[in-house]
Amino acid sequence: MWETNGKRGRKNMAAKTFAVIGMGRFGSSVAKTLYEMGYDVMAIDSNEERIQEHIQYVTYAVQADSTDEHALKELGIRNFDVVVVAIGEDIQASILTSLILKELGVKQIVVKAQNERHGKVLYKVGADRVVFPERDMGSRVANNLVSPGILDFIELAEDYSVAEIAATDRMVGKNLIELNIRAKFGVNVMAIKSGPEINIAPSAEDTINDGDILVVIGHNTDLKRMEEKTK
Ligand code: ATP
Repeated sequence: MWETNGKRGRKNMAAKTFAVIGMGRFGSSVAKTLYEMGYDVMAIDSNEERIQEHIQYVTYAVQADSTDEHALKELGIRNFDVVVVAIGEDIQASILTSLILKELGVKQIVVKAQNERHGKVLYKVGADRVVFPERDMGSRVANNLVSPGILDFIELAEDYSVAEIAATDRMVGKNLIELNIRAKFGVNVMAIKSGPEINIAPSAEDTINDGDILVVIGHNTDLKRMEEKTK
């Protein structure tokens, strides 16, 4: 069954299109965020109530069982640039759905995994990216509790991250030469956020103001050292 809120084609034809399968908390958040950013999003769920709840938040909301290859074909799933599989509990359905999407030739398949073993199988059946929202958010919260000065971070490789560090009193009024962050901590300042503005090519003479956020890249231990020593 197809439901639409009549707001199709919100972006130009060249924009990426997304389908999200499974409107649990995670899938729903992915779908709504993409739609709010102006992208066309098709939401798919086997549960009719979930579809009704999401009609106004997405471009199309469709009731379908994603383990039914024929149903996915009929929806033209392979025409979407990215398909997100956000079925968590039913691991078998998540794996089978990913396999079907791969066989149908979907360009990019992103799947939410319950645990490491589930993730391994997903990569084996052809997922391009596997995400572990609970694990990653748990790790972020734990890191933030230990290092409150690190507002957010993205792990790039096992030991390297990009982190957002709030400017401390010690930094305010100084420029990057005076702070000498690279030599002291082996950390590079990639950008400086000042309210809504972002300076993506900070020069050595740029001064840090109260309320600024430094976007830095480095080894996790160096980032932590920097957060502690600049308090
Ligand atoms: P979250 O933690 O994100 O809330 P979850 O990991 O608990 O979700 P589930 O509740 O198992 O995940 O599933 C999310 C949604 O996926 C549900 O709305 C469910 O109806 C839907 N779903 C489950 N199996 C299928 C399927 N085969 N086809 C389509 N939708 C499905």
